[in-house]
Amino acid sequence: MVNTVDSKKTFLMLPSDQDASGRTLGHEEIELVSDAIRSGTLTSTKGTYVKALEQKFAALIGVQYAYACASGSAAVHVAVAAVDPEPGDEVITTSITDMGALAPILYQGAVPVFVDVDPRTWNVTAETIEKAISDRTKAIIVTHLFGNPCEMTEIIALGKRHGIPVIEDTAQSFLATHNGQVVGGIGDIGCFSFQQGKHITAGEGGMVTTNDAAFARRMELFINKAWGYGDPKPDHYFLAPNYRLTELQGAVLVAQLAKLKPVVARRQATAQQLTNKIADLTGIQTPWIGDRNTHVFWKYCLRVDSSVIPGGAVALATWLKDNYGIFSAPRYIQKPAFRCQVFQEQRTFGDSRFPFDRARPEVLDYSEAKFPGTYQGLEEVLVLPWNEAYTEQHINYIADALMDAIDHLNTSNFN
Ligand SMILES: *Cc1c(COP(=O)(O)O)cnc(C)c1O
Repeated sequence: MVNTVDSKKTFLMLPSDQDASGRTLGHEEIELVSDAIRSGTLTSTKGTYVKALEQKFAALIGVQYAYACASGSAAVHVAVAAVDPEPGDEVITTSITDMGALAPILYQGAVPVFVDVDPRTWNVTAETIEKAISDRTKAIIVTHLFGNPCEMTEIIALGKRHGIPVIEDTAQSFLATHNGQVVGGIGDIGCFSFQQGKHITAGEGGMVTTNDAAFARRMELFINKAWGYGDPKPDHYFLAPNYRLTELQGAVLVAQLAKLKPVVARRQATAQQLTNKIADLTGIQTPWIGDRNTHVFWKYCLRVDSSVIPGGAVALATWLKDNYGIFSAPRYIQKPAFRCQVFQEQRTFGDSRFPFDRARPEVLDYSEAKFPGTYQGLEEVLVLPWNEAYTEQHINYIADALMDAIDHLNTSNFN
């Protein structure tokens, strides 16, 4: 017997981060943007909003330097450029992340070295990173995926032991903490994104943070065509793009930043409510959070056990969509990052294959056996969209949908 669902059932629309229903954009942003426009100064080199944003952001993360830039991808590019790898040097990164964290490594002529993840969190660990360290490793980039921090204590210790800087991709993890420290301020450089779907947004935008004066100098220059603003004899000191944010975005983000703490608190509170309601369901596991960490729930990820729920995460996602109108994402990214064409076919600059042509063969060996946690993690994950505008009604709806789904899918197992 397959449970059927009343076809007249009306779906509850969940607030979406792609429109006003699930964004905190309001009159505060409108007022500041209007002020920026009235000022007639829309470039950050002369205006006040981006500078104010940088100061407030540095204070919030607890770092000495913060520089705004065009996107989260730009932020990672700035970080890699600050480290200044030689062509063919290696940058360790994760096999599950946004392409915006990977392309910048190639643009700076370095070779991404993919490492495996812990399938409980989809995050890299000191153990997986250590296996990939070589005498050509120039930096380690960790992504705090879905809002859940990596186990930074061990990763920082590993970096220090080898003299390798650690870059934190914090695009999904504003104000998450490890051992009481805010992520993005733990490693040598932090990278953030203000893209439409992140905790706070100006449509696009990014930020880099550091406590290191030498990195800070290179980061600020790299965003500004390496022009030495304010220097006695300024010049374009090295190759660098214009990655500046506009004052329009700066104004929006000054208003958004003031809302970040409540946004995070709302997401955490509703995530806890859902966890309480579904913790006992068989076949799914609620988010695993390390003892030393706080999770800021960019997304709420379940692990689906396909030995209990036939068809696993894919079947559960289809069922939630068809019967409750809930759009979740099985697999998050469809395949490990290294399976994308850019890496498989080494499509970079013309036919050169640069910088892959300079890579050690073992770092280009993307065989499945090297990435058990990645394959298991992508197989199991079901990414539920998460939002600060969720109310108790939304949480009850999601919880009911999951209970109903698991009932239904487990029943169908015994046909
Ligand atoms: C969104 C994101 C990026 C890229 O940021 P953009 O602003 O979209 O360029 C990089 N890394 C991670 C982990 C992200 O989630």
